[in-house]
Amino acid sequence: MNIIFLGPQTSGKGTQAKFLSEKLNLPLITTGDILRKKKTLGDEEGKLIATYIDVGELVPDNLINRIVREELDKNTYDDNGAIFDGYPRNLVQAEEFEKYRQVDKVVFLDIPDGVVLKRLAARRICDKCGAIYNLISKLPTKDGTCDKCGGKLVQREDDTERAIAVRLNIYHKLTEPLTEHYEKLGKLIRIDGTGTIEEVRGEITKHVIRST
Ligand code: AMP
Repeated sequence: MNIIFLGPQTSGKGTQAKFLSEKLNLPLITTGDILRKKKTLGDEEGKLIATYIDVGELVPDNLINRIVREELDKNTYDDNGAIFDGYPRNLVQAEEFEKYRQVDKVVFLDIPDGVVLKRLAARRICDKCGAIYNLISKLPTKDGTCDKCGGKLVQREDDTERAIAVRLNIYHKLTEPLTEHYEKLGKLIRIDGTGTIEEVRGEITKHVIRST
């Protein structure tokens, strides 16, 4: 089964996609994480990726399509499907993806821009293991320190005001139309993402897990 997560920044896609991948025992593919890892390599590809990520723009479709395809071709993945967080991100990517993978469900975590902006300002990420925290909804036990690995909690480089405005704009222009695309195909499951992590998890359990 292939399940895609859609939603604006901070809608909880990462957290809920991880939860679903563990519950359904399906691998999780998070394109933002893959790209950030590639960026830190600092080679030609990493440098190219940085020029997009750092300003909040999408990396070119042919590049991300190839990266996802390569990721799926790794023999650690079998044919049972996967959970996709951050891909596809526009119609061109969706069309390419649908050429070789059946999309079974699309979970859309819906939150208004006002909530996105508030949550982004409070988001922190571990500089070692990438774990995500939020100073409003998901506090670490010890101030500024990752519960999992003891790493330092920092703001993501693209969580600056300027990059946030670019990313939200791109989301509305390019990614949001995917909700209509999958609604027409009868695959969209719309979930209110403004609740707590537990509340949203409950909705996903009810509407996605129990109906599989
Ligand atoms: P995210 O962590 O999902 O917000 O992704 C961080 C950044 O990675 C985005 O702002 C884009 O620059 C890039 N990115 C992630 N997924 C994609 C994608 N499917 N297509 C193009 N760029 C992507």
